[in-house]
Amino acid sequence: MKLKFCGAAGTTTGSQHLLEVNGSRILLDCGLYQGHRADAWERNQDFLFDPATLDAVVLSHAHIDHSGNLPNLVRQGFRGNIYSTFATRDLCSIMLPDSARIQEQDVEWINKRRSKNGDDPVEPLYSEQDAELCLRQFVNIGYDRALPIANGVRLTFIDAGHILGSAQVILDLEEAGNRKRLLFSGDVGRGRNELLRDPANAEGVDFLLMESTYGGREHELPTQANHLLESVLERALKKRGKVIIPAFAVERTQQLIYVLHTLSEAGRLPDVPIFVDSPLAVGATEIFRLHPECFNDEVYRFLFEKRDPFGFENLSLIRKVSESKSLNELREPAIIISASGMCEAGRVLHHLRNNIGDPRNTVLFVGYCAENTLGWKIRNRWDEVNIFGEPFKLRANVEILDSFSGHADRGELLDYFDRMGGSREKVWLVHGEPEQSKALCETLRERHPGGAIEVAQWKRTVEL
Ligand SMILES: [Zn+2]
Repeated sequence: MKLKFCGAAGTTTGSQHLLEVNGSRILLDCGLYQGHRADAWERNQDFLFDPATLDAVVLSHAHIDHSGNLPNLVRQGFRGNIYSTFATRDLCSIMLPDSARIQEQDVEWINKRRSKNGDDPVEPLYSEQDAELCLRQFVNIGYDRALPIANGVRLTFIDAGHILGSAQVILDLEEAGNRKRLLFSGDVGRGRNELLRDPANAEGVDFLLMESTYGGREHELPTQANHLLESVLERALKKRGKVIIPAFAVERTQQLIYVLHTLSEAGRLPDVPIFVDSPLAVGATEIFRLHPECFNDEVYRFLFEKRDPFGFENLSLIRKVSESKSLNELREPAIIISASGMCEAGRVLHHLRNNIGDPRNTVLFVGYCAENTLGWKIRNRWDEVNIFGEPFKLRANVEILDSFSGHADRGELLDYFDRMGGSREKVWLVHGEPEQSKALCETLRERHPGGAIEVAQWKRTVEL
């Protein structure tokens, strides 16, 4: 049994780990590496293995940094099954074609630069058609259903509580009479989530591949999120302006809609219109409605009572460009939720352009923004920012709520580790910037002296 770290080792994107058991080759996740565009293209194009030689892929969840290179894997000859939960597959059915459109835009930018240097143009990593073709290879199983997927390999998904359909991957392995249980955490949720159940506890874990995104950081408590949101909105709407919330289309937007719904029912929200202006977010919200098996008891009750957690009187979901444009004419206070969360693309750019110059308005951040993105600059309250290549003065108020994070923080990761059963004789930390993974590694070594705990190194192979 061997494991090779092919991505998300020493970084948070491009999750890919190659497992070999009894001669079968199984890839855990096939994520897109997201960095500077030119490097990212090359790194995503060149797999560290021949895709045609893989037997199967096991996908932990739909986020692009875990699923986004699947269409390229299929384009380069992978013909095996892609195992995921049902909700993960459904989210991929909108997220992968959307990613293909972004690939096509990115390659235009890359090719402009290449032509300046006299280099030949390159093709997009994959097309919308490749994304559609890869969806045909999905095989889905629900949580807690064990399924043999290769000789000596049995797969079980358990809930990760991170996004809709997200799973921790349990692989029961048997090679030459040697039986071991490997757990791949995928991304681990915080617990006490408005929509999802808490991450499930795995038992009997021998080998652990664990995420470490926030291995050295603590967030505000998730239970404070609703209350904090309420007070930010109250403050912002008193000025009779608009509140623009850049939010990730999948999960964060639905979480916000649900919280706004419960606040509105409790009479704790000013009576203003709320718009979700992102075609991907609207599509994702429809997929959420189809998956009652993924929700916590409270949301499940909402659905069971035939109430719609993602629809209420003041809320409008916007698909059409004309409707999106008409929001510019709006003079009354309103809340506009729009993607992308880091303000790098999408309709949120139009709303920012039209609204950040007015001190009555508020831009509210509820998620992570990578360094040097437009979202990061606004979060850091730059005086002036460029949008669509033009400078705009930032006069709107800026508010930040980190309590909605989808990732467990340091304390929550340590609890997750402690709740897990089994010897955890070997542990590799993945999916973290080096200082975050290192911080978690040091703490785990102190608390679990019997285990061999290390930060996974990109391109390295370990024996199990
Ligand atoms: Zn994720």
